[in-house]
Amino acid sequence: MNAEIIAVGTELLLGDILNTNARFLSRELSGLGIDVYYQEVVGDNPDRLKSVIHTAIRRSDIVVLSGGLGPTDDDLTKETVADYFNLPLYFDEQVMAEMTEYLRGRHIVPSNKKQAYIPEGAKIIHNNYGTAPGIIIEQDEKIVIMLPGPPRELEPLFSEQVKPYLDAKSDYIMKSKVLRIFGLGESSAAEKVRDLMESANPTLAPYAKDSEVILRITAKANTDARADKLIDEMYKKVNDRIGEYIYGFDDDEMKAVLCRLLTEKGKTIAAAESCTAGLFSAMIADNPGASAVLNEGIVTYSNEAKEKYLGVLHETLEKYGAVSEQTAREMAEGIKKAAKSDIGVGITGIAGPDGGTPEKPVGLVYVGIAYDGGCEVLKLNLIGTRQKVRYAAVLNAMNAVRKILLNNA
Ligand code: ATP
Repeated sequence: MNAEIIAVGTELLLGDILNTNARFLSRELSGLGIDVYYQEVVGDNPDRLKSVIHTAIRRSDIVVLSGGLGPTDDDLTKETVADYFNLPLYFDEQVMAEMTEYLRGRHIVPSNKKQAYIPEGAKIIHNNYGTAPGIIIEQDEKIVIMLPGPPRELEPLFSEQVKPYLDAKSDYIMKSKVLRIFGLGESSAAEKVRDLMESANPTLAPYAKDSEVILRITAKANTDARADKLIDEMYKKVNDRIGEYIYGFDDDEMKAVLCRLLTEKGKTIAAAESCTAGLFSAMIADNPGASAVLNEGIVTYSNEAKEKYLGVLHETLEKYGAVSEQTAREMAEGIKKAAKSDIGVGITGIAGPDGGTPEKPVGLVYVGIAYDGGCEVLKLNLIGTRQKVRYAAVLNAMNAVRKILLNNA
């Protein structure tokens, strides 16, 4: 089966909002083994909406529409689809009752009634998250799925009701496992598993994502257990080749992996940051339970601050400069001592776009990590915008701490 996604809304065309629904739906559909051939965005204009919907239904098995189910006159998705299939609309008392319940205490305007009109024979996706129900029409071997535009409604409605509905239509299931890789570029990762990427089932595909790489294994099978087995076999092969670079699975981000590891090992951490100005600490604090592991975070941007709060020696700064291996080391040791933590992290670098020299170019970052068994300093030559350099510096620091924790029990 193939699918097509149509996002309806003039705000999308004006660039006022990002089309996150299309991204969500594409990912979910491909996870179900359904090929997405087209994505469109169309404004709330009756003629253009009609033309896009008509074309999509003709050429695709499944058409998923987001938005345009609201109460106002320019919300015309449902009416246009019903018109295509010549389906009359009827007033659904249950949908109206649910809407009244949802809006309890709030004013129900006459236009809300418009949302309770449903095409004859359609399946209703009852909406506990908003007013407009989703609607599925099966007609002439086509499936049209209409979902409300707000992502906080569309996403749970898809996961809870549309996914099981589509699953039941298929004889097989698709399952994926994402391997999260750090410290190996996309092309190097692909090079090491190139032959495995030729496998048809399960498939193995690499993607570059925010300074890291993900490898997605997707298996198609008639039982869950069989899919798991296929995934496991592929994972073992990949792990044999690049296991040292795999730091997590699925939605497990580096910051969560690190925070969990610190918690498991009962270790505390503190960070002194220059070019990243608190990003490391902020990302640790993104994790619930961070207070058990994060002692202190301090931004020491100026040389004076590095001396005053961390005890970095004046001579070190004079002789080697603020962006140097020696300074990163003293920052890490200084914060570890000041915070009385098990691990101290010092980050100093040139985030750019200005401030680089031939000896110390933009993107040069030193990360010091002090721990009870010693102190390691990482020299990084990062590329990209100021934000990218800062973010990559933090990820590298987190990965280095992770490795130290794993290797030094
Ligand atoms: P409502 O009942 O809220 O009017 P609707 O189904 O008519 O729902 P729209 O009016 O098209 O949906 O969109 C409502 C809101 O949902 C938009 O203002 C926007 O914030 C969000 N939204 C709509 N479409 C998308 C999309 N494709 N991606 C992300 N957000 C979206």
